[in-house]
Amino acid sequence: MGLELGILELSYLIASIAFIIGLKRLSHPEKARSGNILASVGMGLAIICTIVFHDSVGIENKNLWLIIGAIIVGLVAGWYIAIKAEMTDMPQLVSFYNGMGGICAALISLIELPHYMHTNSFTGDMNTGFMLAVLLGLIIGSVSFSGSIVAWGKLDGRIGDIRSQTMSVVNLGILLALLVSIFFIMQMDGVQGFEDISMYIYILFGASIIYGILFVLPIGGADMPVVISLLNSFTGLAAAMGGFLYDNLAMLTGGILVGSAGTILTILMCEAMNRSLLNVIIGAFGGGGSSVKGQDGDKVVKEITLTDAGILLSYSSKVYIVPGYGLAVAQAQQVCKDLTKLLEDKGVEVKFAIHPVAGRMPGHMNVLLAEADVSYDKLVEMEDANPEMASTDVIIVVGANDVVNPAAYDDPGSPIYGMPVIQALDAQNVIVIKRSMSFGYAGIDNDLFYHDKTRMLFGDAKDVLNSLSAEVKMN
Ligand code: NDP
Repeated sequence: MGLELGILELSYLIASIAFIIGLKRLSHPEKARSGNILASVGMGLAIICTIVFHDSVGIENKNLWLIIGAIIVGLVAGWYIAIKAEMTDMPQLVSFYNGMGGICAALISLIELPHYMHTNSFTGDMNTGFMLAVLLGLIIGSVSFSGSIVAWGKLDGRIGDIRSQTMSVVNLGILLALLVSIFFIMQMDGVQGFEDISMYIYILFGASIIYGILFVLPIGGADMPVVISLLNSFTGLAAAMGGFLYDNLAMLTGGILVGSAGTILTILMCEAMNRSLLNVIIGAFGGGGSSVKGQDGDKVVKEITLTDAGILLSYSSKVYIVPGYGLAVAQAQQVCKDLTKLLEDKGVEVKFAIHPVAGRMPGHMNVLLAEADVSYDKLVEMEDANPEMASTDVIIVVGANDVVNPAAYDDPGSPIYGMPVIQALDAQNVIVIKRSMSFGYAGIDNDLFYHDKTRMLFGDAKDVLNSLSAEVKMN
C-alpha cells in the first residue's frame, strides 16, 4: 500500500511540475503550444492516477463507471466545441470554460459539506480550516461561474451593459453580506448548528450566483479585460480550495497557479487601464458614461486611395502598425505580415504597437501575430511605442478603435477617460483601415478618424491589406 500511495503522490508531483513548466512556456508565443500540451498531459496523468490508485489511500473508489462516463462526455463536448469555434470566438470560449471551472469548484463545496456534517453530526466538532475552504470555494466558484457566463454573453454581443448607481450599492451590500455570513457560519457549532448550516449554504450559493451576475453586468466601456482576468483568478482560487478539501496536491498546485497567474494579470490589466481593483470588485466600473457620443453627422472623414496609401508607405522610413480586434475578425494577420515584408524589402522600418487590451482577450494580438510568424522583436508594448510616435512617418490602424481613441486623454467625460492609449496622433500621418464608421467595443465615437492627419481606407482588413500590398509592390 505504501508503494502505491507513493505512486499517487509521485504522479501529483510530476503533474504539478508539468503545470509549472507548461505555464512558464505559455509566456512565449513560440513555446506556448508545447506548454499547453505539457500541462494537459500533466492533468491527464493526475486524473488517470487518481482513478487507478485511489483505493490505495484507503477510500473505496465507487461510481467508477459514472466517473468514466462523465469524462467521456466532457472530452467529446470539449473537443467538439473547440474544433467548431472560430478564432474570433476564442474570448467567449475562454470565458465559458472559466465559468465551468468555477461551478465545478462550487459544486465540490455543496457536495462535500453535507458529507462532512454527516460524519461529524454526533460530535458537532467543526474543523475551522475545512469549513473556511468549503465556504470560500463555494462563494468564489459561484461568483466566477455566473460572472463568466455574463462575460461570455457580453463578449458574444448577447448581453449589453446594464448600469445604475443603485446596482453598485446593491453589489456592495451583497458582497458585505457574503463576507459576514462566512463569519456567522464559522461561529456555528454543535449538532443544531450543523443542521442550520445546510440551509444557509444554499442561500450562500444563491447569493453568490446573484453577486456574480450583478458584478459583471454593469461593466462595459473598455473595462472587460480586467474582469475577465479577475474571474480567471477566482476560478483558480476556488479550485485550490477544492485541493485543500481533498488534500489533493495536483488540484492545489493547479488552482494556485491559475489563481496567482490570474491575479498578476489582473493587476497588470488594472495598470494598463489605469483603474483600481476596488472599483472592479464593487462593480462601479466604467461609470461616468455621461458623454458617450453618438455618430456626429457634422464631422467629416477624409479617405485615401489605395494608390496614394501605397506611395505614402513605400516612401516612408518608419511605419507603425496598430492591430486591433478587426484584424482578428478579418483573419488578416498573414496578409499584414506580407505587407510588412514588402515594406522592409524597400528599406522601411516596420513595427507593431501592441496595446495590452487590443482584441477581446489578454494577449490576443500577440497570439494572432505569432500565428503569422511575425518576429517577436517587432512587437512593441504601448508604453515603449508611444515615445516613438513622433518619429513615425505613418501609423496604420488595422481594425483597432478604442485603443487609439484620443478621448482617453482629452475628454474627461468619456467612459474610457484615463485609460492609456496608443497616441497615433503624434505620428506624421495616420491611415485607418476599417469597414465603416461603426464604434469599437466601448461603443463610443473616435475623434481620431476625423482628424486632419487621418485618412480612412474603408473595407475588410484582409482585402484592404491585400490590395495595399499590390500597390506597394508596384512602387
Ligand atoms: P475595438 O473593439 O475598439 O474596435 C474594433 C474595430 O474593428 C471596430 O471599430 C470595427 O469597425 C473594426 N472591424 C471589425 N471587423 C473588421 C474587419 N473585418 N476589417 C476591418 N475592420 C474591422 O477594438 P480594439 O482592439 O481597438 O479595442 C479592444 C476593445 O475591446 C477595448 O475596448 C477593450 O477594452 C475591449 N475588450 C478587450 C478584451 C481583452 O482582453 N483584450 C476583453 C473584452 C473587451 P468596423 O465595424 O467599422 O469595421
